[in-house]
Amino acid sequence: MRSEADAERGRVVGRFAPSPSGPLHFGSLVAALGSCLSARSQGGQWLLRIEDVDTPRCVPGAAEGILRTLERFGFEWDGPVVWQSARGDAYRDAFAHLQAAGWIFGCACTRKEMADSALARDGTRRYPGTCRDGLPPGRVARAYRLRVEPGMVSFDDRVQGTIAEDVAADVGDFVLLRADGLFAYQLAVVVDDAEAGISEVVRGADLIDSTCRQILLQHLLDHPVPAYAHLPVACNTAGEKLSKQTLARAVDEGEPARLLADVLAFLGQCPPADLAESGLAAVWAWGRDNWSMDKVPRRRIQPAPGYA
Ligand code: GLU
Repeated sequence: MRSEADAERGRVVGRFAPSPSGPLHFGSLVAALGSCLSARSQGGQWLLRIEDVDTPRCVPGAAEGILRTLERFGFEWDGPVVWQSARGDAYRDAFAHLQAAGWIFGCACTRKEMADSALARDGTRRYPGTCRDGLPPGRVARAYRLRVEPGMVSFDDRVQGTIAEDVAADVGDFVLLRADGLFAYQLAVVVDDAEAGISEVVRGADLIDSTCRQILLQHLLDHPVPAYAHLPVACNTAGEKLSKQTLARAVDEGEPARLLADVLAFLGQCPPADLAESGLAAVWAWGRDNWSMDKVPRRRIQPAPGYA
């Protein structure tokens, strides 16, 4: 956790926040190494959080597998691992705070009822505002949404440049408490990052379209806005993001030094060709000494080695 003193000194605190929906693949290793080297190269802390708030998507044993793989690759995190599944009270408090301030309304709409709505940039349905001024007669709330007012939200991404979005126009009022009773990722991530004192969020560009929503929540909850850097996402030959759905291969733990050197190359750091031959410790030392966010390619997606 980041202490008050750290915050005053402007100390860098980064994090890696995998969802335990499958084993670590090359794409997750990119976010892990990029976030870690960014924090460490600035003398900062690096924290680990298992994002198991979306329990239906969690695969039994995946979280433990991710931790083992990270250790095998030589990652060292500060403090205890934070598990979102143990943080319901913190999400409930933030939700109650927003509700008391009038920012939340109950929504009865089913997915089917919203099937005709326009698509937002990230592929979710734009909420048409049906229940925003009260539930239709005879209907009960299934989910709870944040009332989003029109206006631009913007941030300067350290890799992708300036990003701006009118969340009301693009996404609309978004869900904070889901119909299945689970808190939404958008709320959990904001509450957790604030409590841990995260000063920079370095993660895959697949999450860039969530960032303006998260900044909106940070403003409403009076939390500081961290710096953001969205790294290129690794894809396969078909241009699909590596994920469980695209059957991404679990990382091969047999050659951790080589794979980390591949991640450094993927992130534009240009490591010496024979770096991996010097072993894992040498790859880490080189990474810490030479990390430069300025060298990371300004793209949202690029082929992973071995898939290209
Ligand atoms: N849990 C998310 C994922 O694995 C990452 C969330 C974040 O870094 O903000 O895709």
